[in-house]
Amino acid sequence: MSLLPRGQAPLPLRPSQEPYEPAHAMLVKAADLNVPGAANYFRGLLGSDSGRLVTSIDPKVVARFCRVDADVLAHASPVFEGVIVSLMGQRFRRRDYAISERRWCPSCLAENGSHRTWWDLTHVTSCPRHGMLLHDACACGAKTRWARSASLVACRCGRWLKDTPAKRPAWIDCGFDSYLIDRFLGHARRPVPWLDELPMFDVIDTVRIVGEFVLDPFQEKGFANTVEGRHQLMAAGFRTITEFPTTIEATLAGIYSTRSQKLQAPHRMHSKEFRVWLTTGDETPMKKTIRRAIRRWTIRHAPGIGGYDVPYGYFALRHAGYLCDYSPDALLVVLRHKRPKAWNQPVGMERIDPETMAWLVRHVGGRIGEEHVAAELDVAYRELTPLRRDGLIDTFVRATGAVYGFFSPDEPDRLVRKLLKLRDGDFATDARTMPMPVAARELNVPVAKLINAIFEGRLRVAGTSKRATGLSRIRIDLDAAAELSLPSW
Ligand SMILES: [Zn+2]
Ligand SMILES: [Zn+2]
Repeated sequence: MSLLPRGQAPLPLRPSQEPYEPAHAMLVKAADLNVPGAANYFRGLLGSDSGRLVTSIDPKVVARFCRVDADVLAHASPVFEGVIVSLMGQRFRRRDYAISERRWCPSCLAENGSHRTWWDLTHVTSCPRHGMLLHDACACGAKTRWARSASLVACRCGRWLKDTPAKRPAWIDCGFDSYLIDRFLGHARRPVPWLDELPMFDVIDTVRIVGEFVLDPFQEKGFANTVEGRHQLMAAGFRTITEFPTTIEATLAGIYSTRSQKLQAPHRMHSKEFRVWLTTGDETPMKKTIRRAIRRWTIRHAPGIGGYDVPYGYFALRHAGYLCDYSPDALLVVLRHKRPKAWNQPVGMERIDPETMAWLVRHVGGRIGEEHVAAELDVAYRELTPLRRDGLIDTFVRATGAVYGFFSPDEPDRLVRKLLKLRDGDFATDARTMPMPVAARELNVPVAKLINAIFEGRLRVAGTSKRATGLSRIRIDLDAAAELSLPSW
């Protein structure tokens, strides 16, 4: 059965097909070949919405209409799902995919007149193969757009797009485009450990945010949405990451030599997005290393800067509360108890330094409740009260009572690790060992009492179970525990 609308026959002339051509480009190319200028008419014929060629065209229908391989075409075509665009097996944010702006490399077009699907990624701004910037307009000044595309290779003014003079400014740097395209196509390339571990959409965000910090640390310029602006931004971000820490240090040196007045408290102007990125979200080795490098450089080179003064801005208490999804007043209580050093700063808590912010996000923003702690420890809910009372697990801010009673997400694991370290290798093999929570049930004593006995040296960790979770990983000798005659429930 034909997928084409009733009464429509496939085109007579079959276009060539490259593995990197998306359906919208194929349709325009096929029109060039069969009925020049008819791309928009064909779009309507195939049931795609006016002005929405890229997002509403169906690759299966285009393949049938143009008589090209449907699977190859679908693979190179974008799939839109909410805020995500999937393209050739990779996921991108919708905002990082251009649906109207059409960009192209004149030399690539000259080679075979085919569109490369990665040119539609907003942050691909150059062609590493030909070492030139991508164009988004004809020499006559008319912007190339998908919606009004009359031809893939010519402008309405009659000029061939392939003849547009190449743009090779002195600052061109195809490093990022090269990385993105090679990774996208699965080509061999030099590893970039910090980026290789991130999904593609995160790579784009990360490089952009870092690039903005080194090019425009006070967020004064803003980068116009031009191919050139985006190119400089992404190239700078990529260089900063691959040549770490040289570029970051040069940025800091520049700030301290010429802009030091900008660094006076409360330090609000430093790239907000960079600051938030550096201290929130998933903690990665990259963020940790960048934070440390900035702090180290600052303490060494910037006069009068103390350990808590770092040059990438402070968080207002309100903003901190927002980032942790927690009341600002309650955050003050947390800080007073847990980070007295940060609390005692002269300017007070309207100024939260980035390291403290990272800590708050980790422990307060990621806080867990009692049920969660019990589940992770693999114990019954009622075990929590004795565990808390004996100080074995720390309700985040003990002194403040029940209102702020939550746990850091690290808390269950911290206790288990502490016990695992006490593992005694020389236990007798004939001992009756069992997981600690089971032993506690057997003896009708709280788990907390067994743990205390271990910390006091009266009971040994007789073994561990790798496959169990929480306190069930700890095995103890039931008979030895029974002899202690611990207070039962
Ligand atoms: Zn090219
Ligand atoms: Zn033109």
